[in-house]
Amino acid sequence: MPELAEVELARRLWHPAVGEIITSVDTHPKTRIFRDCPAKLLQQLLPHTTLTATRAHGKRLLFTFSPPITNNKSPITEVPLQVELHLGMSGRLYATSPDHRAEKHDHFLLRTAHRTLAYNDYRQFGGLKLHRHPDPWADLPPQVLDRAFTLRYLSALLDHRPRVALKALLLDQAAFPGVGNWMADEICWRLAAHPSTPVGKLDPAALRNASRTVCCGALRHVADRNFALAGTRTEAFAPGSYVHLVPPSSWLFQHRWKPGGACPTCKKTLSRATIAGRTTAWCPACQLL
Ligand SMILES: [Zn+2]
Repeated sequence: MPELAEVELARRLWHPAVGEIITSVDTHPKTRIFRDCPAKLLQQLLPHTTLTATRAHGKRLLFTFSPPITNNKSPITEVPLQVELHLGMSGRLYATSPDHRAEKHDHFLLRTAHRTLAYNDYRQFGGLKLHRHPDPWADLPPQVLDRAFTLRYLSALLDHRPRVALKALLLDQAAFPGVGNWMADEICWRLAAHPSTPVGKLDPAALRNASRTVCCGALRHVADRNFALAGTRTEAFAPGSYVHLVPPSSWLFQHRWKPGGACPTCKKTLSRATIAGRTTAWCPACQLL
């Protein structure tokens, strides 16, 4: 499932269209991605609007468009249109030529004079929502790299739920937005803590540092490097939504699913179990906390 770095990469791929007018919208209206927002409504409202902003928060994307207009060119409302998008398990965004012909799993295409913005999702667990509120994300919790994710804020989170397992807290999108399974394992490994450790036993400063390091590194290795690749190829996402370039072999990421995968630091064979409902890998020698 795309985590915060893949989501940020998706945002960057559509961002160059900011300032451009949507000339037409193509959809596969019967696909499940429109279960919360009918394709017909998007086809009615989006043409002739301008994409004005793009945002990412955790695993969510938000695209803001100028207020929709009627046939006589007057705005229907003064409130901008906000389209929230979730990539689900296999969703991916890409930008391509204005005359792009829809591929099999391209369910939502926004066309401008300069490009086509495509949302492709073969498993269709992703989806769209339409917001009319000017700031639909006003109440979302801070992300790990936000200024508001202070030591004080994190300490209060740990004090509130001291007995919860570290892995479970890391996967809680209300606490660590955008952190998913592989990033949670990476944070536990860098913290030298077993994924089941109750968070009340942890040093909040060490947890904050480890989570910031993993979030920064994921953005660098996944969002930055694959975005640079998008300049030379049409897609940064490989088929099946996974990105072409991933974190290096000094990260747990490269070893966690390999049969006989070993800890990049001590070379001991990794342990595996289901923790917090997800398959988890850790080093039995390094993660003793
Ligand atoms: Zn180790």
